[in-house]
Amino acid sequence: MAAQWEDVLREEALVREAALLAVDTALLAGVLMRTAEEPNASEVVNYAPFTLLPSAVPNALFEQAYAVQQDFNLLVDAISQNKEFLERTLASTIKVDDFTARLFRIYTQVLEEGLAQSVFLGINRSDYMFDCGADGTQALKQIEINTIAASFGGLTSRTPDVHRQVLKMLGKAEEASRLLPNNPSQGLALGIAKAWELYGSQSAVVMFLVEDVQRNIFDQRCIENELWSRNIRVIRKRFRDVFEKGSLDDARRLYIDGQEVAVVYYREGYVPQNYDPQNWEARLLLERSRAAKCPDIATQLAGTKKVQQELTRPGILETLLPGRAASVARIRATFTGLYSLDLGEEGDKVAARAIAAPDNFVLKPQREGGGNNLYGEELRHVLEKIKDSPERTSYILMDKIKPQPSKNYLLRSHSPLKVSECISELGIFGVYVRQGKEMVMNESAGHLLRTKAIEHADGGVAAGVAVLDTPFLV
Ligand code: ADP
Ligand code: MG
Repeated sequence: MAAQWEDVLREEALVREAALLAVDTALLAGVLMRTAEEPNASEVVNYAPFTLLPSAVPNALFEQAYAVQQDFNLLVDAISQNKEFLERTLASTIKVDDFTARLFRIYTQVLEEGLAQSVFLGINRSDYMFDCGADGTQALKQIEINTIAASFGGLTSRTPDVHRQVLKMLGKAEEASRLLPNNPSQGLALGIAKAWELYGSQSAVVMFLVEDVQRNIFDQRCIENELWSRNIRVIRKRFRDVFEKGSLDDARRLYIDGQEVAVVYYREGYVPQNYDPQNWEARLLLERSRAAKCPDIATQLAGTKKVQQELTRPGILETLLPGRAASVARIRATFTGLYSLDLGEEGDKVAARAIAAPDNFVLKPQREGGGNNLYGEELRHVLEKIKDSPERTSYILMDKIKPQPSKNYLLRSHSPLKVSECISELGIFGVYVRQGKEMVMNESAGHLLRTKAIEHADGGVAAGVAVLDTPFLV
């Protein structure tokens, strides 16, 4: 297959002109981010980084990713309700990983008290790469599923318009007309609105729990504005605000500043740096409350790398999703090799294999947000150091997925315009709402394509490595 956009990529003057148009169009469309210098003010803003050209994505794999999303929603929800599975799976991890252990402690504490919450809202994003086999065939392989603070559903709702414009300018009107519309912010807001409605208090608000540093606020505003347009009130608070002003009444209704909160939507709380002792207390207060948390602590734990690894063991999916053979098959088809590094013979063998061929694997700690995984020589070095210590069990090992690179321009402010060899990661947003035992919503809610230069093994858009993209289905 000829590389996509080959003819265009050769024409340097045209590319330069297209890049100027692309940036202005992105600014007009609202593909925005605050600056690193002023992350908490919107006086001066910039465009979020994006590709000049939409990247080719195999149609069949794109459809496969959509087709399995409702299955993943069911799976995450089932894990979140399975105490025995979470306990058993995370037992070794929480002995050595303090962050997971603290989350787990809150989880147990909340269960012991008994859940006040009866409406459950899940928003996740399942991420994939297209693994290229020796014979050139591509396969959809899951990188991970994010069950907390999955971002860029807002900004990516605006990138198709930008890429459509760029393609037209480059004389590719027919290709432009084939770019799919995409609106995760609307789909995610529909889920939040449903949870708010089922909570059943007209005067209650939706609370976005946000970080101290808020560069990516426009992404969140896209969802916020969808809620305002449905006449649902949104407030933005930090853990510190909850600690200082949050309280529960006798029925464990959550109040902050005198306002009752129906839904807590976390865009924070997924890395250890988000927490100090007061923030942990605030988290506990939120989890004990009647408000629908997105996600509740059990669902956050369901998204750990350790759980992901455990799911690949024979028979596990079948026990988590009994009577759903078709779902199990669709889910399993997206798995690549994942291996436990728990102490013992199995873990020893796995560690030795990785040390012998580090370029075939990725070593992952229980962390989110990009930039934490280890590759190549660094992987070998770290694994050699910890191979006989319990610290090993805080990691999992994964087969490295090897996509076919393609050429593109990554547009980022104050960066020179140059062509890069790139690989892409496709994410599908999922949203579901459960009331008691009954699923009342289970949907896919749009997609996110992120692209990065191949010299970076790791890292997302927020980490400054990947950029926003739009799939061009081939
Ligand atoms: P995080 O929770 O930090 O986002 P991920 O598992 O998504 O962790 O990994 C971060 C990045 O590392 C991914 O976006 C991808 O670029 C790269 N990566 C992760 N796992 C693999 C893998 N198995 N093969 C190739 N690249 C991977
Ligand atoms: Mg990731």
